[in-house]
This record gives sequence, structure tokens and C-alpha cells, in this order.
Amino acid sequence: MEKGRVFATGLEDIYRIMGISPEVYRFGCRTEEKLKERFAAVDETAAYNQMKVVHAMQKNRISAEHFNPSSGYGYNDQGRDDLERVYADTFHTEDALVRPQIACGTHALAVALFGNLRPGDELLSISGKPYDTLEEVIGIRPSKGSLAEYGITYRQVELKEDGSFDFPAIREAITPKTRVVAIQRSKGYLTRPTLSVEAIGEAIAFVKACRADLICMVDNCYGEFVQRLEPSDLGADMVVGSLIKNPGGGLAPIGGYIAGTRECVENAAYRLTSPGLGKEVGASLNVMQSFYQGFFLAPTVTAGALKGALFAANLYEQLGFKVIPGGSEERYDIIQAIEFGFPEGVIEFCKGIQAAAPVDSYVTPEPWAMPGYDSDVIMAAGAFVQGSSIELSADGPIKPPYAVYFQGGLTWEHARFGILMSLQKLYEKGLVKLP
Ligand SMILES: *Cc1c(COP(=O)(O)O)cnc(C)c1O
Repeated sequence: MEKGRVFATGLEDIYRIMGISPEVYRFGCRTEEKLKERFAAVDETAAYNQMKVVHAMQKNRISAEHFNPSSGYGYNDQGRDDLERVYADTFHTEDALVRPQIACGTHALAVALFGNLRPGDELLSISGKPYDTLEEVIGIRPSKGSLAEYGITYRQVELKEDGSFDFPAIREAITPKTRVVAIQRSKGYLTRPTLSVEAIGEAIAFVKACRADLICMVDNCYGEFVQRLEPSDLGADMVVGSLIKNPGGGLAPIGGYIAGTRECVENAAYRLTSPGLGKEVGASLNVMQSFYQGFFLAPTVTAGALKGALFAANLYEQLGFKVIPGGSEERYDIIQAIEFGFPEGVIEFCKGIQAAAPVDSYVTPEPWAMPGYDSDVIMAAGAFVQGSSIELSADGPIKPPYAVYFQGGLTWEHARFGILMSLQKLYEKGLVKLP
């Protein structure tokens, strides 16, 4: 059949029109069949988290006026102020800062750290090496304007071999100078396991028992709404993340958030805008509706992305590839890694993800030298919001072990198509044998 005129009414037919062969489609169906229980559990979590968000919106009496734009200083921006209450009520924190002026997740984390640390203080990471971009914020890699340049020192405690917290080492590392303890929930692009909210809660309780006045900050990127609890439910003083990941629900065009204690959020606000001004200024321009609506959709969008991750893990695991996390493991974030062991695997996978995109599906991604990377990198993204990684996206460095990292999918239906298209590309090149 020809692309362009679609008369098929069966799913297999329309997938075939879209370029998925019956063998690949049927292998996908068999895999999906085995995931029914897992998917039901994902849906239940989404149903629970949906209620959390709706409850917070109703409690704060959100109305159409909240979507009105503000300009200039943005004084008395009701939409902005109440959105921050909605975030605070959802994360069960005293306050929150949710702003389009926060450029990305790294910026949100930098604002949280710079706002709450003072010269002479020490930052302690207890989940090992932090996300790449934070190395320059902290000054692990020397950088202009880093915390190190302001006389804020840094120390890190590695996770144990099995990915759990090293409690004796944490106790050792806490000194009178320690002020903020940082924990990264998601593995990011490392191979360690992602931390569950429960494990993070245990670590926070331990830290607070060592010294009650320590500030515990959790990098919550990619973790929001994956579980019913958030780290702030188990004692985190700040949770920090990006709105072009889970909590933006795919609709927020920019932004970041910090939810936490009144004092931590106030300190962060004085850093984001200016001492004395804090949360009082910062016009929301015209983004409020997308922030509210995106947050409303975030629990189900996250569920779609999670199902995609589960589907891909199980599909590729059956084909003999190492997948992280494993197909039957619990999930604490939306990232899935697949180790191909050969470069064509990474390349064809990314080509498939791109070919399945709603935007820019006709372009072909190629490996390329990128600043900050020591090998060529290939990236696939056909997104409504540039760089958005809650939308279906994949990337991988062209070097051993030839692993691709993929995440997102605004709907499960689209994630499924993207993953099957990735497999189709590998299948057409003869790189996989279907069982
Ligand atoms: C995405 C991410 C960040 C922030 O990245 P940005 O690209 O600046 O939004 C920080 N930490 C983790 C674990 C992340 O996944």
C-alpha cells in the first residue's frame, strides 16, 4: 500500500503502511502481551498522581484568570504565585519556585545551590559523581563562576558496588563545614541504578540523624511522578527539576522548579532574581496555561514514557542485548539504556526513533563530533519543544559499549511506534534475528 492514502482500519495494517513489517509488529504484540500487569501498575500510579495534582489545583481555586499573561516586573502575578502553591501542595513542601526564567534543569540546580551555600560551606554529594553539567557548576571541572570560585568546597561519597548508599562513609564525610547534602535520584547517563524514593528517604533520615541542620537537596530530574511518593515526602529540604522533562507534561516550553522549605526556596529566589526582590518579581509572560496544563498532564505523560521504557527493555532483552534497567526490574525514572556492542545498533536505533517522530521525521540523524564529548555522538529528536526529553528521544556516543539512551514519549501509543521503528531499522539491516 502507498503512504499518504490511509484506508486501513486494523492496527497491523496501519503499522505496515507506516513502515513496520508484520514480523516486527507481531513480535511487539507478543512482548506487550507479557507486560499487562506491569502496565496496569504504571496506570495505577498515574491515577494516584493525577489525583494529587487535581487536588492541589482545586485547593488553590485555579481559574481561567490564572492563565493571563503578565509583563514588566510581574508584581502580583496571581497565576505564577498560585502555580507555585500548586507545586508546593503536590510535592508536600512549604513553598516552591516555578519560573520560565529558570533556563533548564542545570540552572535550577545552580540556583538552589548558590542560593543556599555561603563561602566557607561545603557541598557533599552522597550519590557519587553528579550529572555532567553540574561538574562545572560545582567546579569539579574548573569553570568561571563556579561554587569553587566563591570558596565553597565539595566532597563526594561514592555509592557502593550494588548502587546503595555507603552510610559509614557518609558519616565520615560530614564535617562542621558541610551545609548542603546532594542526592541525584536518576542515574542520568551513568550505569549505576536509579535510586528509589524509599532509598533516598532512608539516606535523608541518616543524614539528619548525623546533623539535623543539614540541607538535603535532591536532583529530581526524570523522576517526577514515576512513584507515588516524591523525595520531599520523605524529608528532602529541596527537590529540583526541569520543566522540559516530566513535570512540564510536554507542554511547558521552558522552565524549572525548586520545591522545598520556605527558607530554602526564599534563598533560591533571592539568587534567581535579586536579594530583596526574591519571588516578588518575574513576569510569567504567556506561559502560565502551558505550565498548569502540562503539570496536569504530567502524571499520564510520565506513565506513557514509562511504558515505552518497559516495552523497549523487554523487546531488546529478548533479542539478547543488555538493557539497563533490566526488563523485569522496578523503575524509578524514565530512562532506558540498551547496549548493542556495535556502532550500527546505536545508529539504526536512533534513525528509527527519528523516523517515527511527529516533527522532523524526514531528517536522518548522523553521528557527529559535539563539544564536551570525546567521541562522535548521534541524537534523535523530533520534538515540539527543542531538546525536550519527555518527548521521544534517543542519543548515544559512538564508542564501546555502544549503548543508546532513550527516554520519553508523550503518549504510550507513540512510544510504541518509535520503539518498533527502531527495531524495524535494525531488522532491515540484518542486525537482529526475531524469535
Ligand atoms: C537533565 C538532567 C539535569 C539537568 O539538565 P538540563 O539539560 O540542564 O535540563 C540534571 N540532572 C539530571 C539527573 C538530569 O537528568
